[in-house]
Amino acid sequence: MPALALDGEMFTPDSPGYDGVHRPVNPAYRDVRPRLVVLCRSLADVVSALAYAAATGERLAPRGGGHCFAGRSSTDGIVLDLSGLDGVSVPDDGVTTIGAGACLRQVYAALHAHGSTLPAGCGPTVGIAGLTLGGGIGLLGRKHGLTCDRLVGAQVVLADGTVVECDHDRQPDLFWALRGAGGGQFGLVTSLRFDAVPEPLTTRIQARWPCAAPKEVVAAWQAWAPDAPDGLTVNLTLESEPGAAVQATLFGASTLKEGPTRELLRGFTDRALELRAGLPYHRLKQTFSALDRPDLPERAQRTRSEFFSRGLSDRTLTSLLSQFGAARAEGRRRLTFTAMGGAYNRIAEDVTAFAHRGERFLLEHIGDPADPWTDRSWATAHADGSGRVYPNFPDPALDNWAAAYHAGNYRRLVAVKNAYDPHRFFDFPQAL
Ligand SMILES: Cc1cc2nc3c(=O)[nH]c(=O)nc-3n(C[C@H](O)[C@H](O)[C@H](O)COP(=O)(O)OP(=O)(O)OC[C@H]3O[C@@H](n4cnc5c(N)ncnc54)[C@H](O)[C@@H]3O)c2cc1C
Repeated sequence: MPALALDGEMFTPDSPGYDGVHRPVNPAYRDVRPRLVVLCRSLADVVSALAYAAATGERLAPRGGGHCFAGRSSTDGIVLDLSGLDGVSVPDDGVTTIGAGACLRQVYAALHAHGSTLPAGCGPTVGIAGLTLGGGIGLLGRKHGLTCDRLVGAQVVLADGTVVECDHDRQPDLFWALRGAGGGQFGLVTSLRFDAVPEPLTTRIQARWPCAAPKEVVAAWQAWAPDAPDGLTVNLTLESEPGAAVQATLFGASTLKEGPTRELLRGFTDRALELRAGLPYHRLKQTFSALDRPDLPERAQRTRSEFFSRGLSDRTLTSLLSQFGAARAEGRRRLTFTAMGGAYNRIAEDVTAFAHRGERFLLEHIGDPADPWTDRSWATAHADGSGRVYPNFPDPALDNWAAAYHAGNYRRLVAVKNAYDPHRFFDFPQAL
């Protein structure tokens, strides 16, 4: 077997510390035991690990934050842990370079020190690379677009070991494909360059209440939130637990001050809302990280999702909510509605690999893995869905995953895959 010399470290199941490094954040994949975990500290480590995996014929799974819903950053082969490549640099020319192993907590904190930020997700331990490669939806997205829309370049180690820089001028097809097709498809991204945005002062929006009439709330939300002004994002979660009333939570952010935000929200609800103005964006993110989605969950959850380019019909909504609140619920269930529209949709579908540019909202059905409700609920809503699925929420149960994730961009993505990874070194179920 070839030797592996590293600036970082490697762990086998016999190494002290293996248990601390082999598990991904997602509990569903914590029992997968890699033969080797390579903790990279340099570009040379990434190149060496790739050459080693190619020589041994073992699967190499890149891992950033380790959150993949489909377990693609876990393998019984070699896990390439990039968390050691977490530098963030913001030189005076304004282009921010971020190591592919940085997580969102690090990114927001480092950019805040320079008065800037990125439109990106909420979970503080979510990896910037995984998030960006699949798109990147967040509370500033209706104003500034996806995280990948701010990407201006990347360094990538290709399957043959070549290191390339890609941007609009160099390797433009690869650069196009990296913006939204999903992680792990074309190469090992080692750093990402972004055109960051000025960090705004924001108003935090929240309300939580036992919800006697969820249908009215969802109907009002879906008619209003996707068309709200760009600076205002309000998402909605419904939760049910056996024997308890349905809870509704509204949460969101506004780049306006408290008065104008309250005025705009009147167009949607007369409910008393908790507003906190004057929060720099990274502070606002911190206050939501636990609420939005448990970041380090103890128990596995199953998520199915779909985009919607029109509202749920009265009939679909009635069935969805009657299934949701059914008395025989097995564990906790959540329906989360995320507002799209705004800047997400002001880009043509073929400008980046992320094809979903005409959607009004994203609906997630999150339940216990043993609860048949998740599939039933997804199928009910699917009657009105656009058939499109966010590549960062991969769903092994999809029938036509190629159309769902990539729509009209699929053929061009296959051509890029064939050009950059002709022997399918980077492979997993539902890979291009
Ligand atoms: C708690 C939580 C909160 C979330 N919040 C949001 C949100 O607000 N907005 C949003 O859009 N999404 C959100 N997501 C979904 C998230 O975007 C995806 O799960 C994303 O893929 C996670 O990236 P990761 O690096 O953390 O995960 P990983 O499992 O490490 O990586 C995800 C995929 O990318 C590949 N990959 C990772 N690093 C690289 C690399 N350097 N080069 C090539 N391939 C790589 C992996 O192999 C895997 O296929 C959330 C998920 C969770 C669990």
